[in-house]
Amino acid sequence: MDHSPPALELRGLTKRYDDGTLALEGFDLAVPAGRFFGLLGPNGAGKTTLISVVSNLIRITAGEALVFGEPAHRLRARRWVGLAEQDVNLDRFLTVEEVLVYHGGYFGMTGADARRRATEMIDVFDLRAKTDVRTPKLSGGMRRRLLLARALMHRPRLVILDEPTAGVDVELRYELSCYIRKLHAEGTTILLTTHYLEEAEELCEEIALIGAGQLIARDTAAGLRERYDAASLTEVYMKTVGGGRAASGAASENGGDPEAGVGGHDHESSRAGIAS
Ligand code: ATP
Repeated sequence: MDHSPPALELRGLTKRYDDGTLALEGFDLAVPAGRFFGLLGPNGAGKTTLISVVSNLIRITAGEALVFGEPAHRLRARRWVGLAEQDVNLDRFLTVEEVLVYHGGYFGMTGADARRRATEMIDVFDLRAKTDVRTPKLSGGMRRRLLLARALMHRPRLVILDEPTAGVDVELRYELSCYIRKLHAEGTTILLTTHYLEEAEELCEEIALIGAGQLIARDTAAGLRERYDAASLTEVYMKTVGGGRAASGAASENGGDPEAGVGGHDHESSRAGIAS
């Protein structure tokens, strides 16, 4: 039996922002090490908040977040996490190589190790011709590849990808999914958020559906389809978390009850600060 700690464990995680918005409430989730795990949910469901907690970018209001058994705010845990954020937040004054080497420095890599690893990443992500080019001169696709390369620089055990394929063309989406699959095949735990449900279905071994700051359901794509008597993951999504705008509210009080379906929880979404 495997006694290693989960890659990610959230216990009673609650996050209330300073303006009073309750983005996550009493959230429990364990993601086993090595899993390819998807987080799905509508805009404002709390996915980025969850990721920001795990990556130690924001403070927790209540509860616990553990990364391979260590509190997420500890240095060891921070070194185990690699984050490719939703926004393309690259320093415009740095070249491709500098972005990578500086990132290595933040994570305690020596200059020589960071340069070696940067060269490796530049090759893997096919950025060789742009090594000394500053980030504003990269194409959108190159920037996305650089974001992923940067997230992997310090050899994280848990890689978090927040909508890595948002707005990218078909070819780059294919390329990125190949990189991510390879990374997973090498033993890295992947936490992916995406609004492309086919992508989630194709890549993720397990999926958690989040609505209004709460966990609604968690299973394999096939398990979710069966449980919600749905022909596709899109149908599952619409029957659970996706009904907010289409019907009458986010489904967060049913605790994942397949019978509860969509609607009837308007107050829940407004309590969580979720628009519409
Ligand atoms: P999307 O799919 O649009 O990225 P998401 O699931 O990642 O959405 P979050 O960004 O986590 O959702 O937002 C959850 C809730 O918290 C929303 O109501 C959002 O407006 C709110 N929120 C996020 N960041 C802040 C902040 N810094 N201050 C106040 N409220 C915030």
